[in-house]
Amino acid sequence: MTEVSVGNILANQRQFFQTGETRSTAFRHKALKDFKQTIIRNEQNILAALNKDLRKPVFETYASELSLIINEINTALKYLDKWVKPKKVKSTVPTFPSKNYYLHQPFGIALIIGPWNYPFQLTLAPLVGSIAAGNCSVIKPSEISEASSAVVAKIINEAFDKKYITTVEGDAQVASSLLDQEFDKIFYTGSPAVGQIVMEKAAKHLADVTLELGGKSPCIVDKDADLDLSAKRVLWGKYFNAGQNCISPDYLLVHKDIKQAFYASLEKWINTFFTTDHQSSPDLGRIINEKHYDRLLKFFNDGTLITGGQTDKTELFIGPAILEVTDLDTPVMQEEIFGPILPVVEYSELEEVEEIVARNPDPLALYIFSKDRAKVNRLTTNIPFGGGCINDTVIYIGNHNLPFGGKGSSGIGNYHGKYSFDAFSYKKSIMKRYFRFDPGLYYPPYKNKHTFLKKIFLK
Ligand code: NAD
Repeated sequence: MTEVSVGNILANQRQFFQTGETRSTAFRHKALKDFKQTIIRNEQNILAALNKDLRKPVFETYASELSLIINEINTALKYLDKWVKPKKVKSTVPTFPSKNYYLHQPFGIALIIGPWNYPFQLTLAPLVGSIAAGNCSVIKPSEISEASSAVVAKIINEAFDKKYITTVEGDAQVASSLLDQEFDKIFYTGSPAVGQIVMEKAAKHLADVTLELGGKSPCIVDKDADLDLSAKRVLWGKYFNAGQNCISPDYLLVHKDIKQAFYASLEKWINTFFTTDHQSSPDLGRIINEKHYDRLLKFFNDGTLITGGQTDKTELFIGPAILEVTDLDTPVMQEEIFGPILPVVEYSELEEVEEIVARNPDPLALYIFSKDRAKVNRLTTNIPFGGGCINDTVIYIGNHNLPFGGKGSSGIGNYHGKYSFDAFSYKKSIMKRYFRFDPGLYYPPYKNKHTFLKKIFLK
């Protein structure tokens, strides 16, 4: 895609945005309904694409791609009329008498750049917020999940006019030339390294940004936790989408007193979930490509294999692998794993947990298994992270009433449900004054009028 054609897309969308059509709530309702129907019509295409790209189990596609996005659309359809209402706020002593309110306004043209791991949902769920807020949008799916990228483009093509919403498929270079254009809002999901590039490019036009990034998400298992249930929940969260999940438990910190018992539970549940021949299980996805397969394989050098670890390059298969790690300076404890390898590090005191977690930048997610409220409060308060669960993993993403996002290197801003609408709107503040009364406090000559301000504020 040349710069000229990208420029044309933008010029057409800007022209359409300026007609004001996208601001009508009736238009937004219709767009959301059309979007939903087009997704439902393409259900089989979506399942086939995700099977091709990631051999994603059908259950996982329904649970984490289709259900999530349809729920986002249904939520927006249900609450849109409430969200768009002007929000009244109180007046203050110096601004009395006045009526004060703010409006949620669309930014204009939004660019949404998606990743490959949930290539459908993570690319299209932000679009729900963009439509609800009244923007025009350009979607750039990940080139790595090629089949899903084509389905995203097909759905957008079928549901919308290009002057309103369109897809631009392509690689990093295409993303880069899109970022050179003057968008009003950029919503990016992907790695922290590319997130920095996106923010730098956004700065040129002072575009508003939301960055949904990644990092190393710790999972802490304390000695008083229900070990068997904790092991089951850790494994489910870790092996969903073969661990290629921004919020999957990246590594485990397990209290030394229960480590051996926890290993036994992990092994039991791995073999219960996936039988003892993990490769034959229909419930384990595959690694996205050879590059990531080779990257993941290197992590096996960083610890001692406790259980699992079956691999087959011809199928891009890496089975569940529990790896005991003692050297915190190895890559498996420094890089985001984003795959089915689960390092385990033992700890004795809570201070050690805090020190180990602090070796890497702000996690996107944090999970704690413990019955001790004081310990849970200490960790959830002291550690900076985007979101997480106490006594479970990953499932918090299923509640659209919780804002989803990171902090610092794991992200800027958040979305889902009402927060998506907020992410794609800005607040326009308005004060209405009246002609019938004019207190005259702020007009010259000022003389001693400052004494009034002094009395109100400097006390
Ligand atoms: P990525 O950053 O490599 O790619 C994401 C998107 O950025 C793709 O569309 C790609 O074409 C584009 N891109 C790549 N290089 C670019 C460049 N130089 N300039 C502009 N655009 C460029 O990320 P990925 O490999 O697809 O995803 C993995 C990462 O994403 C992990 O770190 C993971 O934690 C994170 N992630 C975060 C979330 C979240 O919701 N916070 C969700 C999924 C993935």
